[in-house]
Amino acid sequence: MAERNSWSLGSALRGMFGRQTIDESTWDDLEDALLLADFGPVITDEILEELRGQVERFRTTDPRDLKRMLRETIEDRLAKFDPTLNLSARPAVTLVVGVNGVGKTTTIGKFARFLRNFGRTVVLGAADTFRAAAVEQLDTWAMRADVRIVRPQQYGQDPASVAYQTVEIAMREGIEMVILDTAGRLPTKAGLMDELTKIHRVVEKLTPVSEVLLVLDATTGQNGVSQAEAFIEHSGVTGLVITKLDGSAKGGFVLAVQERTGLPIKLIGTGESIDDLTGFTPHVFAEKLVG
Ligand code: GDP
Repeated sequence: MAERNSWSLGSALRGMFGRQTIDESTWDDLEDALLLADFGPVITDEILEELRGQVERFRTTDPRDLKRMLRETIEDRLAKFDPTLNLSARPAVTLVVGVNGVGKTTTIGKFARFLRNFGRTVVLGAADTFRAAAVEQLDTWAMRADVRIVRPQQYGQDPASVAYQTVEIAMREGIEMVILDTAGRLPTKAGLMDELTKIHRVVEKLTPVSEVLLVLDATTGQNGVSQAEAFIEHSGVTGLVITKLDGSAKGGFVLAVQERTGLPIKLIGTGESIDDLTGFTPHVFAEKLVG
């Protein structure tokens, strides 16, 4: 099991902030730490420039001031996006999309539990109907989270019809939250995007879709974003879920991904257990990242 919060810049920064004064090597080390944490070269340069300016303006040579400035700069940039989940509709329908392996099913299980912890009633829809394993896996999570699930009646049933039935049941029975699993891969990317569009359209015959959450794996960093580009372009994504932050040394990815996609992070996954999902709070994240 990876160390918790290994994405924190803590160990990389501890050395430099423990020094007596800010000098050229401080800037070099800070640059290395930011690049290692996957902030990416552009954001790294911008942060360094901003901090150099601040250090000059405030005429400080104290590394502790630099640490505070770094934390605030990161927090300010993270906070430019609104992490609020828009789930006030009844039922509130959330479509969960993303490529296979990123942690989509696990996230759905955790999200169901997360909503139940807030006292909401939840139903899952297994609209990834082409992989028997996907339905079984979602079933297991429904059991763990103690929520209902609507399964396809037969293998390969039209995913949109499962989505429709799930929302219909929620409306009939007054279930507050609907979470729909979707396929992560089909023979063609265009086929997959068409399928997601159809699910969206069919659900909206009953009620508007509240959130389309794209799940991204922090350990794949910027590569993962490239793989998910089609979802961003075609599936009306409203927010991101970043998984596997517990095992990743790439905490800077969180800032990079918001700025690159223009989409807010709404949830973060920090482990494989059902309670390892939290809302995204820029202040808390920046604090943990910088220490
Ligand atoms: P899917 O194919 O996208 O549905 O992915 P799964 O939900 O099956 O997850 C793939 C793997 O990632 C599984 O082994 C999960 O236990 C693991 N996983 C999912 N979320 C997290 C997380 O936040 N942290 C860690 N460490 N592992 C995760």
